[in-house]
Amino acid sequence: MTGMGLGGAAAIGAPQPARPSDLPSKFTPAVHANTGSQYNPFATPDYYEYADDLVIERNRPGKPHQGKVLAAIQAHSDDIPLYAGGTAAKLIDEGYTGYLIRISNDEAAGRTLGYGAVQNEIDNQEVARALGFKQAFSFYYRNHRMDDCAEIEIRARLIFLYRALQVNAVILMDPYDHYEENPDHLVAARAAEAACWMAAGGKDYPEHYKAGLKPARIREKYYHARSPQGHNLVNRIVDISSYIDRKVLGNVANKGKGPAGAAGSRLRQELARNGRKLPLLGNDDDTANSQYVKHFLMDGWRTLGEQFGLEYAEAFRYIGPEPNYREKIRTYVDEHSVPL
Ligand SMILES: [Zn+2]
Repeated sequence: MTGMGLGGAAAIGAPQPARPSDLPSKFTPAVHANTGSQYNPFATPDYYEYADDLVIERNRPGKPHQGKVLAAIQAHSDDIPLYAGGTAAKLIDEGYTGYLIRISNDEAAGRTLGYGAVQNEIDNQEVARALGFKQAFSFYYRNHRMDDCAEIEIRARLIFLYRALQVNAVILMDPYDHYEENPDHLVAARAAEAACWMAAGGKDYPEHYKAGLKPARIREKYYHARSPQGHNLVNRIVDISSYIDRKVLGNVANKGKGPAGAAGSRLRQELARNGRKLPLLGNDDDTANSQYVKHFLMDGWRTLGEQFGLEYAEAFRYIGPEPNYREKIRTYVDEHSVPL
């Protein structure tokens, strides 16, 4: 199914460098500085590394993914909405049944550790609702301590869910994201990636099968990077222009942390206390929250899109289905075998 209805490969021109370059002309740049945003460092990464077979994934008419299941795995409640919220909303709108899986308890992001855990538990549910997921799960591993967790346990729990939900596609942070600071991100991503492969096998956790589960065949993976420093190899730009307002709502739902949440209404109230207002923020808190996120925090996704002729875009390392090599060998044998 993959690759059908996609736009052609984009001609990758040299994106405008964010800074003047002292790179001597004998060197070809291997990565491209991102123009980024003046308003939000927590959106697009500071560099992109583009593959020469990059594809722009555009809207697909009808419901081409009907009957398929998408799992979006995130260490924290703001990872998917910030970096891949538009793509998640798009794939769900195109027919996927979506599940949002959070690995940590997000306790480190709140007024106190306890409030943090509670608020982010609510936020994870609300993010799922805003982006169109059917259900949200949380594993509740302690925040910023995931490198102290047994990765094999996280992986096993994900294998169970992939099989139980019959997942076909995943969105997750790139397990090889460069310059990653947050220990949770890489642990969660490594476990989620390995679980994709192992969930299809017949020998790992055979009790699942005796209990009635079936192998999960995950054919498509979207890996996103983490800003501001993280970057990965990008071979897919997803046009999220039609889904930007849904992505905005997904980020407004993150009240416990992140740059979004209720920042717009707080700014509106602060201005009002000083006898001022920003027309952009409108006349009520909901409008203020949405407008703040769209105007300031989505700016990096707008400037990324601009470089590809799109209104808004998200960037991924995309891994699609492997070609069916057994079928190719069988065809070759049929064509070339001769009588004994
Ligand atoms: Zn995170």
